[in-house]
Amino acid sequence: MYRRNLLLSAVAALLVSTIAPVGPALAQSGDRTGLYTYPGPGTVNTHWIETPGGGLVVIDVQRDLAHAREALAAARATGKPVRAILVTHGHPDHYVGLGVFKEAFPNAVIWSSETTSETIRTDPYGFNKLVQEFDPANAPTVFTLPDRTFGGDTTLEIDGLQIVAREMGKAEANSGTAYYVPSTGDLYVGDLVLNRLHALFGESSTSEWLTALDRLDILFPNARVVHPGHGASGPKERLLADQRDYIVTTRRLALAEYVRAGDTPAAKAAANRAIIARFPYENPAGLRDIVAISVDGLFAEFAKPALAPVK
Ligand SMILES: [Zn+2]
Repeated sequence: MYRRNLLLSAVAALLVSTIAPVGPALAQSGDRTGLYTYPGPGTVNTHWIETPGGGLVVIDVQRDLAHAREALAAARATGKPVRAILVTHGHPDHYVGLGVFKEAFPNAVIWSSETTSETIRTDPYGFNKLVQEFDPANAPTVFTLPDRTFGGDTTLEIDGLQIVAREMGKAEANSGTAYYVPSTGDLYVGDLVLNRLHALFGESSTSEWLTALDRLDILFPNARVVHPGHGASGPKERLLADQRDYIVTTRRLALAEYVRAGDTPAAKAAANRAIIARFPYENPAGLRDIVAISVDGLFAEFAKPALAPVK
């Protein structure tokens, strides 16, 4: 129950971002890839890849209808039709806009892992309800689900483009999928990597997250550019190293306070201050207290028997 409350508070805070004004689209199309995002709190990425067949594969579709419509407009500006939409994980800032894209491109196939699709459909964390309650006019009445799912690892062939999908397991979310384009070396990782933005440890799974980063490195040795769920794309080595450092360092800072003073408000406040001092980052979701939420998640992780301090 505690974990559920933790996640609910995380998502409730996530929704704060929807009050932020919809900013200007910063579409930047490279040779084959494009991006819609916007500056400031609540920033989240919608990426796309141009296919050999003249279409687009879109990855993740924004947290609310207004931003999804802007992302759609940016994708439309390429003049290419959306052939498919890939969802990286079951957090609402990545799937709420599915219906907007599906309505505009009814023939586009929405893909996700079974876990992600089931998370959207059954809503075990109450995300969908929160999205609707927070800003009904900016939320779908019915959440569009993926059309097709894969159980684990698969290779998709979409409009002449090969995309390798690898399920990365529990880390930032209850599961997440990495999508890799072998022909270009582009690797789309959802929120397994956030480029110099605060991460969310609501799942109390930083150990698994570190393993997932190592798996990304090993599974995709030829990946050149990592495209995160939040923050700018960049070279694989730097982005993976930065994310690893953020997790290891924040965890040590929090653990020091946990060992010193136990699971207390004072220890959490001290951990919060230490993390913000070490990483003066923006947050990716307009989370008023993202670090405090993550400290709660870290302390819950520390309380697991394998990590509990010796009495
Ligand atoms: Zn996210």
